[in-house]
Amino acid sequence: MDLTFSPAAEEFRGELRTWLEANVPAGYGTDTFEDFATLDAEFQFLRRWQGTLAEARWVGVHWPRKYGGRGAGPEENYLLQEEVAAARAPEVINRIGVNLVGPSLMTHGTEAQRSRYLARILSAEDIWCQLFSEPGAGSDLTSLTTRAEIDGDHFVVTGQKVWTSWAQYADFGILLARTDAEAKRARGISYMIVDMRSDGVEVRPLRQLTGSSEFNEVFLTDVRVPRENLVGEIHNGWSIAQTTLAHERGTSPRQLVIHRMLLDDLVGLAETLPADDPRRDHIAQAAIEVEIAKLNNWRTLTRRVRGEELGPESSFIKLYWSEMSQRMHDVVMDVLGPAGTLDGGVHSVARGRLLRSYLYYRAASIFAGTNEVQRNIIAQRVLGLPR
Ligand SMILES: Cc1cc2nc3c(=O)[nH]c(=O)nc-3n(C[C@H](O)[C@H](O)[C@H](O)COP(=O)(O)OP(=O)(O)OC[C@H]3O[C@@H](n4cnc5c(N)ncnc54)[C@H](O)[C@@H]3O)c2cc1C
Repeated sequence: MDLTFSPAAEEFRGELRTWLEANVPAGYGTDTFEDFATLDAEFQFLRRWQGTLAEARWVGVHWPRKYGGRGAGPEENYLLQEEVAAARAPEVINRIGVNLVGPSLMTHGTEAQRSRYLARILSAEDIWCQLFSEPGAGSDLTSLTTRAEIDGDHFVVTGQKVWTSWAQYADFGILLARTDAEAKRARGISYMIVDMRSDGVEVRPLRQLTGSSEFNEVFLTDVRVPRENLVGEIHNGWSIAQTTLAHERGTSPRQLVIHRMLLDDLVGLAETLPADDPRRDHIAQAAIEVEIAKLNNWRTLTRRVRGEELGPESSFIKLYWSEMSQRMHDVVMDVLGPAGTLDGGVHSVARGRLLRSYLYYRAASIFAGTNEVQRNIIAQRVLGLPR
């Protein structure tokens, strides 16, 4: 494992840090920052912020220069996420566009699709969502039933998607739909781009545990999608979906920084505990686990820098940090006691920030492939256990 970054990566970090110091909205990410009155207001703020980042070319640095990136390597991309989180800067809002759609179109899209969509993904002029999961198809995505029938130079799409993050603000979605009803499972699926303003697209927000509504149900009724929006070959969408899903996991520098900050919160809370309080041991354990998460990240980053394939290792990283997160949040709630359950008001701690974080990270063991599925992957592909 390499424990140092290259001089070029350190130079990149220095330039970025200086830019962030001058540009991060004052107070953002701290307890003094005024809560947004509505989700719409938060979304508009985040969209503007991505525009500012993109103007300075700090979005999609790992994209090739010809598509608006910097052609940066894995080290710089890692440092970008780490530094943005450490500066308490807002996260890029069009994450699905930048991290999933862009690389998928670069690999499988037509030149016309790339020139139409890629630049506007970076600037957040177009927001994208991921229309994969369905009520009956999540972990087992190949059982999806949304269908797309050919009608002249269009597909006609009908079905239901769910858990579609930010769909209520999305201009476009990447959709998986069945184009061959006879073919088995993965074989008859196609991958296409849906204009979310098309007739027949209905988006219904879902309220989450945190009180926010980033998630949506999306109903598609006879939605006409031009054939030119097909990505790759017809019926071959499953292999393209693999490209998209491969970009969902891997190192998680942002999560590492967030949990280091959570550890700072915990260490602060420890000061309120008596010296012999056993919860202090749990905080020490959290500090050890954050260190292990850092080393996991570095080991994987080292492999990426050497150009090695990640394979099932990304499952291990996802499993480790998500479980660490939930253990740490349990310790936070344990230390806070009843005050931890207050979301705002004079008796709340950190204006409910730690409570919302606790509630949000319940999702960490579900998104980007559930932890049970990650365990299956590790069992079969790393340990060689039978199915
Ligand atoms: C924060 C968040 C954001 C998301 N955003 C999007 C989005 O933008 N677009 C999108 O398409 N989807 C999105 N999802 C959906 C996500 O991809 C699915 O929730 C996930 O794939 C699991 O599917 P499911 O919810 O249908 O659960 P299921 O697959 O029905 O699983 C239910 C339970 O059964 C377990 N299970 C399932 N299969 C197995 C197995 N073979 N072996 C052992 N246990 C198993 C699971 O681990 C889980 O505990 C998001 C989810 C979250 C939490």
